[in-house]
Amino acid sequence: MYRCYKSKNVEGVELFPIFSVIGENLLLLATWVIAGYLFWPVWILFNLPMLTIIWIVLVLIIQVLLKKHNCSGCYYYDKRCHLGWGKISSALFEQDSGDPNVGMKLSLFYIITPPIVLILSLIYAFINSADTAYWAFLILFIALNVLSFPIRKHGCSKCVMREVCPGSAVKTNENDASAI
Ligand code: SF4
Repeated sequence: MYRCYKSKNVEGVELFPIFSVIGENLLLLATWVIAGYLFWPVWILFNLPMLTIIWIVLVLIIQVLLKKHNCSGCYYYDKRCHLGWGKISSALFEQDSGDPNVGMKLSLFYIITPPIVLILSLIYAFINSADTAYWAFLILFIALNVLSFPIRKHGCSKCVMREVCPGSAVKTNENDASAI
């Protein structure tokens, strides 16, 4: 576990239930897949949905890097955290093999990408008079993102790492993040 994390652990759940791990991952996956769908018609080049392709590559790269730079130094490395990613990290990377500062920057992915997806899709939908299906998925994307707040908060509120994990939704002392 990263040294900078050790002193900031708090009381929490040791092993999260599998159904909540699956539920949270399905929710995240659904938002990423819908984002790919919304990006599909926005930029077509040589008959290829360029934005969707870039999005898939970006999600894969960022998610793998997060498992290295955040999760390899986490208390839940090789354990089942509320996302289960500590187990994925231990299968892919050595313990403490990442850089927490890089992990913190990578975590911005969760904050920056939803508004970008929303704004680009809205612009596309208005300019091109998108069909009902496109609007339905756009509304679903917004709904799932709104739904993810309380669900993520619930998971984070039971996490040993909630005061220091860069992705924590319940951090009480924001300065801890900048101290990593
Ligand atoms: S609590 Fe956060 S940093 Fe730790 S393993 Fe789970 S997802 Fe990764």
